[in-house]
Amino acid sequence: MATSAEDRSVLEEELTCPVCLDLYRDPHLLPCGHNFCLPCLRRLKSRSDHGRLRCPECRQSHRSSANWQKNFKLANIADGFRRRGQSELIRSQSVLNLFTQKTAVLNTKHISQYYRFCGILAQINAGLVSRMNN
Ligand SMILES: [Zn+2]
Ligand SMILES: [Zn+2]
Repeated sequence: MATSAEDRSVLEEELTCPVCLDLYRDPHLLPCGHNFCLPCLRRLKSRSDHGRLRCPECRQSHRSSANWQKNFKLANIADGFRRRGQSELIRSQSVLNLFTQKTAVLNTKHISQYYRFCGILAQINAGLVSRMNN
């Protein structure tokens, strides 16, 4: 049975930088669609080889001189998660709770809410990537 701590960790995972394993600080987006804190990207850049850096997530190679776009929405979500901790989270969490209580309360409305919640970050990323590629 899922506890609320586990539910919280689902969201926390989405908001965790894969490099420093901490909540995103000033997240920026690589052209491959992966987000990293600006300090983490700067560190990668300082170790870049022939002006290229590799995305730690997908190993795609990018020009290290490229301008990274700040992911404002992700920054806001991560900041909110860090600062307020609870209030914003509680709404998402209650949706998750409904979803994870594998009982009769589970209906299509809850499932669609859950998927909408999970899709938010993907949509943010997709939107930013498509704008960058235009
Ligand atoms: Zn980081
Ligand atoms: Zn990547």
